[in-house]
Amino acid sequence: MADKPKVAFYWCAACGGCEEAIVDLGEGLLEVAAAVEIVFWPVALDFKRRDIEQLADHSLAAAFVNGAIRTGEQEEMARLLSAKAQLLFAFGSCAHLGGIPGLANLFTSREVLATAYPPDNFPRHACRDNGHALELPELFDTVRPLDQVVPVDYYVPGCPPTPRIIQSALQALLSDTLPPRGSVLAPDVALCEECPRKDSRPPDLTVAAFHRPHQIVIDEEKCMLAQGILCLGPATRGGCEAPCIRGNMPCTGCFGPTSRVRDFGGKALSAVASVAADEAALEAIPDPVGAFYRYSLPASLLRRKKNGGDR
Ligand code: SF4
Ligand code: SF4
Repeated sequence: MADKPKVAFYWCAACGGCEEAIVDLGEGLLEVAAAVEIVFWPVALDFKRRDIEQLADHSLAAAFVNGAIRTGEQEEMARLLSAKAQLLFAFGSCAHLGGIPGLANLFTSREVLATAYPPDNFPRHACRDNGHALELPELFDTVRPLDQVVPVDYYVPGCPPTPRIIQSALQALLSDTLPPRGSVLAPDVALCEECPRKDSRPPDLTVAAFHRPHQIVIDEEKCMLAQGILCLGPATRGGCEAPCIRGNMPCTGCFGPTSRVRDFGGKALSAVASVAADEAALEAIPDPVGAFYRYSLPASLLRRKKNGGDR
């Protein structure tokens, strides 16, 4: 029997949701485990870094990396997996676009640390204690998506990616039917096109005031945007099957943009501005960076707040 393709899974600056999403494949995970040899998955199995280091370059069929890059250790692991794998997949919004950890680009790393540590007791990169040298990974000022560190072959979008998106990415890998390198593995259409509420969105929509989901009772049948709820479906790539809308919550943009858009937040702002009745309606939206760049600030044209930054 031919050797099974070797694959690795790794997480960087992540919440664990993407790892959970793989486990959520349920019985599908057993099929994956039967079809491939998992040689590295620190969250679930007891592999060490040296297990990857000792592999020949390009000996992995694929490595799936979730999470953004914000520490020296994560950068090293991204480079290591890039060297060992024939195909590198950015898995989930954080690896794809920088994700929620990327909102730290509004601050310096010192400002981030100051929210949790007293000024005279920040974690240090290196120190000695009781005769022992101790080292922590460097914490960068700037959070980066995976492709700002190493070349990425495919993007699996979502926060986290949905089971169907994961399954189809794995099937495409195993059946050698992947699209051209650089592709986002989801349909290249806006979410509104697959939304179960799309027919209730008026063509001449004008929104007089935007509300947060907890401020009104949301009609479960009607387009969110038509109810004044900030829904980013017009700017967001589809393929998720609209689980948030089906759960009566608006789309917040985790699948990122379609291929025709360079800057997701700019596109989302433009889509919302085009239906806002006036400037006052737009200005009343709280936390505009968090609303429009929630998953994509590091991959945007803005990238970070210009207050320092190491890269
Ligand atoms: S993409 Fe979402 S679920 Fe995945 S690690 Fe980032 S925050 Fe967590
Ligand atoms: S704006 Fe939101 S709720 Fe309305 S059709 Fe688009 S995705 Fe659906």
